[in-house]
Amino acid sequence: MNCLECNKALDYLDHKNSMDNVGVELCGQHFVRMKKLVEQHGTPIEAIQLYYGLKDAGVNAMLEWWDGKKSVDIAISRVKLNIEIDTKYHMLTHEQAINDLEEAMHSFKNGFTTIRIPHVLIKHYLKETVHNILGIMEGLRANIKVI
Ligand SMILES: [Zn+2]
Repeated sequence: MNCLECNKALDYLDHKNSMDNVGVELCGQHFVRMKKLVEQHGTPIEAIQLYYGLKDAGVNAMLEWWDGKKSVDIAISRVKLNIEIDTKYHMLTHEQAINDLEEAMHSFKNGFTTIRIPHVLIKHYLKETVHNILGIMEGLRANIKVI
């Protein structure tokens, strides 16, 4: 077990602490940094797991990216893709739904595409989720070229 950021070997306690709190393997130093980010933004564990899943697939993403109005869970700026992780998917209210739609509209106006991914998908289908995001990136890249 090694840190996903610096590849430092983790002992049992570091590993357990990191997995329990942020859902990925991080050394003491990187865990503290991630924990701070989570506390600041309320980042869902699944966003962190997806971020490292994308990193593992060679995607340069940003966690908690500030788009000028709000913090986006994950942003892939090269193809202008924003990814929001839905943690309250099953209890979506109409107020939340209209807010989401408005946010998506603002993103589109800025040339960004927003996709929302239910957190359970990352929990059960991380590989497939990453695979599909890679496909979406390909499509976006092709569209950018056309323009
Ligand atoms: Zn580390």
